Amino acid sequence: MNDTITLALSKGRIFEETLPLLAAAGIEVGEDPEKSRKLILPTNRPDVRVVLVRATDVPTYVQYGGADLGVAGLDVLLEHAGGESATGLYQPLDLRIACCRMSVAARNDFDYAAAVQQGSRIRVATKYTHIARQHFADKGVHVDLIKLYGSMELAPLTGLADAIVDLVSTGSTLRANHLVEVEQIMPISSRLVVNQAALKLKRAALRPLIDAFAGAIPA
Ligand code: ATP
Ligand code: MG
Repeated sequence: MNDTITLALSKGRIFEETLPLLAAAGIEVGEDPEKSRKLILPTNRPDVRVVLVRATDVPTYVQYGGADLGVAGLDVLLEHAGGESATGLYQPLDLRIACCRMSVAARNDFDYAAAVQQGSRIRVATKYTHIARQHFADKGVHVDLIKLYGSMELAPLTGLADAIVDLVSTGSTLRANHLVEVEQIMPISSRLVVNQAALKLKRAALRPLIDAFAGAIPA
């Protein structure tokens, strides 16, 4: 087990967009996670395997050594650390995959700028409470944060909240729900995360992998 390299990925866009980076390192995953029910996928390299975990669990697996390395969105990493930098977790590469942005969106009949200007308390629903709290604190905007676990777009439509903080890529989900992006908080992409102890103990195997990923990052 000690010679095996375990890579934690989440199904969907992160898995799909990591495949070309793996290919650049000479690694091919044997099975399609959408078709298989396996949670551990072998690769063409007997010493490399992929474990499939929830996107939000990738930092946890890597931090505690359940995986040697993994790929996670900056959103997930910031929420995982709760504003701190997680101990035992290196973030050596911005892989520039799964790109989107973290934004504030509101119902198109809610005057966000006026609410901010007047110093009103704004009710904001989000899954990303750490990022949201930090953003509004930096701006000096008073907010009541409401934690949700999904379908944030519904919150302003039902009167649960005035605004949301969520990931946006094309904006079509917002438009379909009569929401407008009123503020961009930060660009988001996925990062390679590496277990600090593993990098020491398995350096000879991990270093060439990390270098191959670095050389294959999209422009
Ligand atoms: P699930 O959708 O299964 O509940 P999830 O939302 O955590 O899980 P994904 O939707 O695959 O997982 O998102 C994984 C990562 O991809 C996010 O953490 C984020 O960094 C990025 N991402 C999310 N939505 C988009 C998007 N619309 N476009 C590009 N990247 C995105
Ligand atoms: Mg999702």
